[in-house]
Amino acid sequence: MKKRKYYSTKNKRNKKRNRLFLTYKFRIYPTAEQQQKMNLWFFILRRNFRLLVDWLHYLYRKKKKDIYRTFDQFAKKYLLEHNPLCDLIPSEVIDWQVKEFRSQISKYIKPSSCISYRKYRSFVFPAIRYLDIHKRNSRFVDINFPMLGRIKTRFHRQLKCKTIVNVKFTKISKHWYIHILCSVKPSHKNNAVGSVGVDIGIKNLITTSDGKVFKPFVPDIRLLVKIKKLEKQLMRKSPGSSNYIKLKEKIMKLRCKIYNAEVDYYHKITASLVNKNKKILLEHLNIAEMGNRSSAIRQLIQRRRWHLLLHHIEYKSVRDNCQLVWVDPAYTTQLCSMCGAKVYKRLSDRIHICPFCGLEIDRDFNAAINIRQRGIFGNI
Ligand SMILES: [Zn+2]
Repeated sequence: MKKRKYYSTKNKRNKKRNRLFLTYKFRIYPTAEQQQKMNLWFFILRRNFRLLVDWLHYLYRKKKKDIYRTFDQFAKKYLLEHNPLCDLIPSEVIDWQVKEFRSQISKYIKPSSCISYRKYRSFVFPAIRYLDIHKRNSRFVDINFPMLGRIKTRFHRQLKCKTIVNVKFTKISKHWYIHILCSVKPSHKNNAVGSVGVDIGIKNLITTSDGKVFKPFVPDIRLLVKIKKLEKQLMRKSPGSSNYIKLKEKIMKLRCKIYNAEVDYYHKITASLVNKNKKILLEHLNIAEMGNRSSAIRQLIQRRRWHLLLHHIEYKSVRDNCQLVWVDPAYTTQLCSMCGAKVYKRLSDRIHICPFCGLEIDRDFNAAINIRQRGIFGNI
C-alpha cells in the first residue's frame, strides 16, 4: 500500500514564502454624505456585475472560442461604455471587480446554471499601501481614503504589519466595517513546550490529550427568544413595507450579535491551544467527504463550524511559530490508547471500555491520546 502523507499545503506554502496574510476588522462611522456615496458605489457595482454576466452569456451563445481572452481584453472597456456612472468610482475599484469576476468566471459562464445576482455589500480598494491615520482620542482615529475623505474609525487594535495589501469596505445591517488585509512576517519565537493531540468532535467540540474539554458554543437563549418573537411579527407584515425592512434589520442585528459571540469563543479556544503548546497534532479530516455520509452529520458539522476552527488553528500556528502536524485519522476512536487493541464503538457509545486491559475513559479523550501518540511515534 502506498503511504499517504498528511500535511497542510497552505501552511507549507506560507512558510516557504515566509509571509502570512491577516485581516483586521474595524468598525467605521461614516457621515451621512459618505454613506450616501458608498451606497451609490454599491449600486454601480451591482449594475456592473449584471452587465458582466449578460455580456458573458452573449459571448457564450455566440460560441466564441476565446471567451477568456476577449473577456480579459475588453471587460473594463465594455463596462465603461455601458455604465456611464462608472466615472464616479475610483478606477482601481472597478479593476478589482473585474479581476474578482474573472477568478470566478466558471461559476457564471453557462446561462443554464442558476445565477444569483448577489447583492454587493462590499468593495475593495486594492491600491492602498499605507494608511493615512490621524489620532482623534484614545479610542477613535480618522483614516483618510481617496474620494471618501476622513472616516472616523474605532481603532481597537494596533496593526502589526509591514505592508497593507488592500482595504475592503462592508456594510452589515446599517453598520459599516473595514477589513484591512496585511502581509505579516511569522514570528520565530515560541516559549511554550510540550505537544498536544486534539480530537474534534460533535458532542464535545474539542478534547485534548491532556484532558481538557471544550464544549460547543451555546448562544444566549434570551437573544434566540427575541429573534423568534420578531420573526413571528415579521410574518404579519407585508414584504417590502418600511416596517418589514425595519424588523428585518433588527433580526439581522441580533443574528450578527450571536455570530460575533461564536467567533469570539472560537478565537479564545484556539489561542489558548496555540499559546500553551509547541506542537499541535490534529486529525487530517476531509470535512467535505464526511458531509457526504448523511445530511444529519453534515448539518451538525456545519453548525459546529469545524472549518472555522481548523482555519483559526492553522493561521495562528503559522503566526506564532507553533508546529502543526496532520495525522492519519484511521481508527483513532476504535483503538485502545493503552494496549492498542481494536474495540468497536458506535457513535452513541460515549465511553471507551477495553475488554483486554480494562481501560475505561471517555471516548474522545482516548482518541486524542491516540492522535498524539501517532503524531509523535508514527503509526503503531
Ligand atoms: Zn486496552
